[in-house]
Amino acid sequence: MATKEQKILRKILGDYYESNNEMLFSCPFCDHHKKKMSVNLDKNVWKCWVCDSSGRSIDFLVKKFGTTEDLKDWGLDRELNFENIEFILYGEKVEVKKETIFLPEGFVPLFAPGRSYHRQRALKYMRKRGYDDDQIFRMKAGVCTKGEYKGRVIVPSFDEQGDLNYFIARTYANDFPKYKNPKVSKSSMIFNELTINFNRPIIIVEGVFDAMRVGQNAIPILGSTIKSDHLLFERIVENRTPVYIALDEDAHKKEKKIIELFLNYGIDVKKVDTSGYEDIATMPREVVEERIENATDMGGLNFLYQLIEEVA
Ligand SMILES: [Zn+2]
Repeated sequence: MATKEQKILRKILGDYYESNNEMLFSCPFCDHHKKKMSVNLDKNVWKCWVCDSSGRSIDFLVKKFGTTEDLKDWGLDRELNFENIEFILYGEKVEVKKETIFLPEGFVPLFAPGRSYHRQRALKYMRKRGYDDDQIFRMKAGVCTKGEYKGRVIVPSFDEQGDLNYFIARTYANDFPKYKNPKVSKSSMIFNELTINFNRPIIIVEGVFDAMRVGQNAIPILGSTIKSDHLLFERIVENRTPVYIALDEDAHKKEKKIIELFLNYGIDVKKVDTSGYEDIATMPREVVEERIENATDMGGLNFLYQLIEEVA
C-alpha cells in the first residue's frame, strides 16, 4: 500500500519503483529516461544519480513541481498562509533583504476540488483569454472568494527556494484597478524564479499573462525595467544566459536601454517582433512561437542599424 506521501509524490513526479526503502523516479531536472532520482522519505533527502541534483528536504520538490493543491496536501499550507487574515505582511524595511509575502485572504487554487461560483468564473475568464487548463495548473493560479481580493485571479510567484515572493491579482469582473499587486521592490525579485532555468535562453516579457502565453522560461518584468543592480540581471550575467526581449511595441525606449545594457555585458540578445498586437498575451500561440524563432540578433551591427533607423 502506498502511503499518503508516496501518492502525492507520484502525482507530482510520475511513476516510480521502490528499492531498499527508496522511491526511484525519472528526474525532472535532467529528464533522464531511466528512473534514477531516489527519494528517501525516512531520511527526507533526494538525489539524482545522473545529474547530481540533490536536496535535504523533499518539501523543495513539492514546492518546485507540485501545484498549490499538492502543497496543501503535503502540509505546506501553513507556510503559504492560505487562511491568514493579515493578507500581506512586510518584513522589517531595514536590514531585511527578503520580504515576507502571504497569499491574500480567501485564496483557493483554481483546481481545488468541489464547486465554487468564483472559481468557475475565474476559470471561464482564463479559458476565454486562451489559456488551457494545463497552463493554469502549472502557474498554480487561484482565486479569492472573499476579502479585498475577491473577484480576482491570483497568480503566485515563488523564489529560488520555493518561498512566495510576489503575486498578481487580476480582476475577471472588470473591477478597478485591473491589477492589485503587492508593493514589493521588483529589483530584488524574479517572478517564479523557481521554475526558471538560466542555463537555457530566457524570454523577457512585460506581464505575467504574457509569460503564460510564451510558456516555459519567460520572465515578466511587471512594468519595471532591468538595471545592472537588479537580481534578474545578476542571474543572467552569472549564467551567461542568452536573452530574448519581447516587450510591448510601445515600450521602445525601455527596450533599447535593456538591450544596450545586455550587449555591454556581452550577453547574447535577440529582439522578438511584437508589432501588430497590444501585447504578447493577445497573440495566438503559433504567432508567439514563430516570432521567437525569427527573433533578430541584436549583436554585431544590427543594434546600430536599429538606432540609425530611429534617428532617420
Ligand atoms: Zn537528474
